[in-house]
Amino acid sequence: MKYISTRGGVEPKSFEDVVLTGLAEDGGLFVPEQLPKFSIEEIASWSVLSYEELALKIITPFVGGSIPEQDLRQLIEKSYAGFRHEAVAPLIQAGHNQWILELFQGPTLAFKDFALQFLGNLLDYILAKRDQKVVIMGATSGDTGSAAIEGCRHCKNLDIFILHPYERVSEVQRRQMTTVLADNIHNLALHGDFDDCQNMVKASFADQSFLPEDRQLAAVNSINWARIMAQIVYYFWASLALGGPHKKVSFSVPTGNFGDIFAGYLASQMGLPIEQLVIATNQNDILHRCISENDHSTQPLQQSLAPSMDIMISSNFERLLFDLYDRDGEQIAKLMADAKNGHMKLSDTALAKARKLFSSYRCGDQGMVDVIRSTFDDSGYLLDPHTAIGLAAARACSNNKSTPMITLATAHPAKFPDAVKEAGYPEDPALPPHMADLFEREEQYTVLDNDSQVVQQFIAEHITS
Ligand SMILES: *Cc1c(COP(=O)(O)O)cnc(C)c1O
Repeated sequence: MKYISTRGGVEPKSFEDVVLTGLAEDGGLFVPEQLPKFSIEEIASWSVLSYEELALKIITPFVGGSIPEQDLRQLIEKSYAGFRHEAVAPLIQAGHNQWILELFQGPTLAFKDFALQFLGNLLDYILAKRDQKVVIMGATSGDTGSAAIEGCRHCKNLDIFILHPYERVSEVQRRQMTTVLADNIHNLALHGDFDDCQNMVKASFADQSFLPEDRQLAAVNSINWARIMAQIVYYFWASLALGGPHKKVSFSVPTGNFGDIFAGYLASQMGLPIEQLVIATNQNDILHRCISENDHSTQPLQQSLAPSMDIMISSNFERLLFDLYDRDGEQIAKLMADAKNGHMKLSDTALAKARKLFSSYRCGDQGMVDVIRSTFDDSGYLLDPHTAIGLAAARACSNNKSTPMITLATAHPAKFPDAVKEAGYPEDPALPPHMADLFEREEQYTVLDNDSQVVQQFIAEHITS
């Protein structure tokens, strides 16, 4: 299988190249030239498979023969072996035809583990085969950094440098990153905010001359194709558990950069019968405004109690637009220029196509806190703030009460004690046993000035050989 850019300006690339590259040279995002399609009979035959076996079925066609099946199977098994629940992604019933898919059973308690556990193993495998080493550089406001570090801690062929804004990530999130003590893991706390961290990473990707000759930068942010690919699996998994594919299901997805829900869209394009995909946003609601009233104007970032969804523009939305505009790269390049300037309008045709599958809902901090409180009062189940927004959207948008509606639970509540306490929960929600001693563990990180020379010199000096 080959991959093309959403802006149409690059030659098709192999799976391995795409995984190592991140962004295409024309500024676009990589998508498969053609999606694999599965028949209903074939999907139905998968209902007996384990999560890992199902993942192998779904991922194999994307890899397009570049990894032997036996190796791919091992990579997948290794990636999900550290999940605490035997089902990997268990379903919980939250009401009549309302379900919660717990995607936080991985090592860092957020759904990002599904993608980053796999991506770490995959990168290390590809690099070993090529006898190559890379430097991963990324910025984080919390969840991505810890999941990426956890995914890379055992990798032999890479160093990872994660920048977080000094004293501006929660203590749980910081400790999840800084207590991973391995020679190839480097935590940098930058005097600045998340945007400063992100700009530093962007500038370093643009000019990599600070690196030794034999190294290049690789990205593990949410535009990396392999991350999206790994997330397709749990849509099939949840459907199969609830009567699919003979019965349709719907999903509500707490959305930031549109990576997670885009994987759901891909599942439907690959043959999984999905009735509705609900885009759930917090007060940073550009996607909700776009779908509901064709208003994709950028607005200043608002800090919310569901910080992993605090975005101004959702980078992976471009991948959906590419399909909505019949894969016309030139049109997408124009649209993205408009989006960057703060004003993008979709054509009536594109919007109508999107609305056939997608609906959207916005839930601010107050609504979110109310959902955490009422859910806990009613059932004793404690939601994290992102999941609570998803559940609010699921209830508001469901247009067929006989179709199972599945809310993706993207994080464990213990990661976001502020929101949970705001909802009236009397104490810090307990961390699961494997992390119970998180606050006693030794931390290691370096505080640096917001100065690219300082940061880049630090990186150059700390690359392991
Ligand atoms: C990253 C994240 C999201 C948003 O996911 P996208 O793929 O960026 O839409 C939602 N919830 C949590 C807890 C996250 O960590």
